[in-house]
Amino acid sequence: MANFVLQLPNNLRLRSFTVSSSSSNGATPGVPQSAGPVILELPLDKIRRPLMRTRSNDQQKVKELMDSIKEIGLQVPIDVLEVDGVYYGFSGCHRYEAHQQLGLPTIRCKIRRGTKETLRHHLR
Ligand code: ADP
Repeated sequence: MANFVLQLPNNLRLRSFTVSSSSSNGATPGVPQSAGPVILELPLDKIRRPLMRTRSNDQQKVKELMDSIKEIGLQVPIDVLEVDGVYYGFSGCHRYEAHQQLGLPTIRCKIRRGTKETLRHHLR
């Protein structure tokens, strides 16, 4: 039996689908099997950062990250929360700013879905 994990774009909202060539495991082909996080490049301007104005970054760290990202690329994606199709970033502030300053259009994100309640919790 062969298993494939597909990531299909749907207006920038991606889901993982496990497609099985056999139904012996009871799985229905094409039906989403996982609600876990997905790794995806998102445009920087698609990520809302509600706490940005209240937190300031260490510019030395940003500079070091810029040099490193130029050299070896982003090694660890930033965490992003998706609520009703809107993306929110609360951490990864230095990596985000390093991408901005490098003029990179997108950033690699680890996206998990949340509810409005999850969002409220982050904003508290
Ligand atoms: P941030 O606010 O982005 O979390 P930190 O300085 O607290 O910034 O942490 C930097 C993070 O960036 C670390 O988790 C490190 O593993 C990660 N990282 C990803 N890509 C790189 C890279 N190319 N060079 C250095 N660190 C990187």
